[in-house]
Order: sequence, then C-alpha cells, then structure tokens
Amino acid sequence: MIRIENLVYTYRHGEDTDVIPALCGVSLSVEKGSFTSVIGRNGSGKSTLAKSINALVLPTEGRVFVEGFDTQDESALWEVRQRVGMVFQNPDNQLVSAVVEDDVAFGPENLGVDPDEIRKRIRFALDSVDMYEHRKMAPHLLSGGQKQRIAIAGVIAMRPDVIIFDEPTAMLDPGGRQEVLDIMHSLNEEGITVVLITHFMEETVKSDRIIIMDNGRIALEGTPVEVFSHPAEIEALGLKLPFAVEVAAGLRRNGIDVPEDILDTEELTQYILQRAARSEPAAVH
Ligand code: ADP
Ligand code: MG
Repeated sequence: MIRIENLVYTYRHGEDTDVIPALCGVSLSVEKGSFTSVIGRNGSGKSTLAKSINALVLPTEGRVFVEGFDTQDESALWEVRQRVGMVFQNPDNQLVSAVVEDDVAFGPENLGVDPDEIRKRIRFALDSVDMYEHRKMAPHLLSGGQKQRIAIAGVIAMRPDVIIFDEPTAMLDPGGRQEVLDIMHSLNEEGITVVLITHFMEETVKSDRIIIMDNGRIALEGTPVEVFSHPAEIEALGLKLPFAVEVAAGLRRNGIDVPEDILDTEELTQYILQRAARSEPAAVH
C-alpha cells in the first residue's frame, strides 16, 4: 500500500541549508489492510512522515509510493490524495460546517459527487463512527471525542484506502480516546489500512506492526511482541512501556513466567486470575 525508500526530508530555513533533517533515511512499507502504529518522542519526525505519505511534503531525497504512485509525480497527486485520508490532532480545526451531516458531505461535494451518492456516503460514514443519530446537530455542541469521530466520518466519506491518524486522541479525555481507538480498529477490520501516529504506548499494542521513531530515524520496529521484548531500549528512547508489559516484566523478575504475548491489562488480569485459581485450594465455606 505504502512504500518509503530512504526518505530524507529537510525543512528549509531561509538560506540556511545546514539544518538537521526531520527525516534522515527512513525506509518502510505498509501492507494493504494492516494496522501500523508509529510512536516516538516529540520532534522525532512522525508528522513529517505522515505528511510525506499524502504528498503534503515531498522528499528532499528518496521516494514515497502510494499504491505504486510516486508522490513526487505531479500528475499522480490526485491519485495519491484520493487514496490517503488524514485525521489530525485537533477536531476543531477539521470541522467546517455548522451541521454534522454537512460537514461529512463537504469533501465529496467538493469532488462533485452526485447528491444520491453523497447521501449514501453520509449514512455509511456516520454509521461507521456511530454518530448517525447526531447528524442534525451542531458540531460545537459535541464532546471532543464525538467531534473527532465526525472528522473521521468526513474522511471516510472520501472513500480512502488508507487513513493516517496523526495523534487523533491527544486532545481527548480517556473515554473519547477509547472510542476513537475502537473506531480505528473497526475501520481496519472493514479493510481500511490504518497508520496511527500516537504518543500513547497503550494504543499500539493491538497493531500488526509498531514503528518507533527517534531523531528522524526508525529506532525499532516489528510486531508488538517483538518490539516489547526490548523494554530497556524503549525506555532509553524516552518512551513508557504499556502498563501490562511493565507489570509482566516485574512478575518475571519474581519468577512468574508470564507469556510474552500478554501485552494488555485485560489479558494480564485474566492470566493472573487463572494462575491464582490453579494454585489455590478451593475455598472452604
Ligand atoms: P513529531 O510529529 O514526531 O513531533 P515533526 O515531524 O513534527 O515531529 O518534526 C520533526 C522535526 O522537524 C522537529 O525537529 C521539528 O522541529 C521540525 N519541524 C517540523 N515542522 C517544521 C516546520 N514547519 N518548519 C521547520 N521545522 C519543522
Ligand atoms: Mg507530530
């Protein structure tokens, strides 16, 4: 779906060409239908990477392909933008209309999609984020999480193949964050390729692949099990481990061999409960 080859990107500071690149030789590929999380400290290059994928920024060196279309090929720009949807951190900056359904219609209307098709897309997109019943509401009356879901619906209505979420939960409360995380996973189950940029490690554990960025480079990548088997490296990169991974590591240090594929709190709780049930004699009443 996405192939990035040795991508270098340097922001221009006037005449000053001697600046450190925001991306210094990133190569990666994203499989169609996969869920990839990108995590890293502030300034590590995550947003620049996201913008490179939909040709908002063009490589200083190297190449970026979206379904075979080179982002540097001007004649392919429409093809690239058609395929790649973007969701940003602040829902308020992404909503343009006074009524939810008009907001969702905005993108397809600008593309000249016919009204019947637009109605279908509004229905489908709002159903996908579970907001259809709020279609007549004013976005400013919604919660942060609901607004972000409307912004996502606006992207879904454009029928992209891949959606890049750049810290979509950073401004939300825990409830809103969970809703948005659930929606990203359900979109992925329906076949949309998801790239999630986040600084919440907990949000990455259900991904197919995790990419950890540091100083414009990929510092660590792999499946969650592979990545979290390097806890010291993750902490050295200034990142926090998922809570369950930290607790599991503590249990292992104390001789309890927690399986390495237990990465979330619910799974860890179940594991501990099962062990406790096995090792304790039945209670006598
Ligand atoms: P992240 O999203 O991981 O926080 P960014 O991609 O936004 O990282 O930034 C990577 C580097 O590029 C940082 O050093 C940042 O200061 C620099 N940078 C980002 N945007 C700009 C810009 N518009 N102009 C100049 N430098 C920028
Ligand atoms: Mg960023």
